[in-house]
Amino acid sequence: MSDVPEAKYLVTVKNVEKAIKLDEVAKAELHSVGMMDDKGKLKLKGVSPKMLKRMKLEAVDCPVLSKEVGFVQCYVCSNFHSRISGKVYCKGEPLQLGQAS
Ligand code: SF4
Repeated sequence: MSDVPEAKYLVTVKNVEKAIKLDEVAKAELHSVGMMDDKGKLKLKGVSPKMLKRMKLEAVDCPVLSKEVGFVQCYVCSNFHSRISGKVYCKGEPLQLGQAS
């Protein structure tokens, strides 16, 4: 069994035609933890530019924020546990991130 005890939701990653922009709250968050530079360029640890490009064209219907968010935002979310076979294991805790929009 490969149960993930902390995961509350299993969210399917889908492909989108156009990258979903990060909202301002997510950007500020990324900036504050050093994952975005002053020009707004993302610098995710362990993620190659090629992977990042692909991640930008993926999205999830987030059950916590009740809206569609880009996979990049999901990946850096505090609820993100892991991604296995195209599904995100999400801890499902209440979030601040992205709620302002
Ligand atoms: S990890 Fe975060 S963004 Fe992704 S589905 Fe869970 S709450 Fe939503």
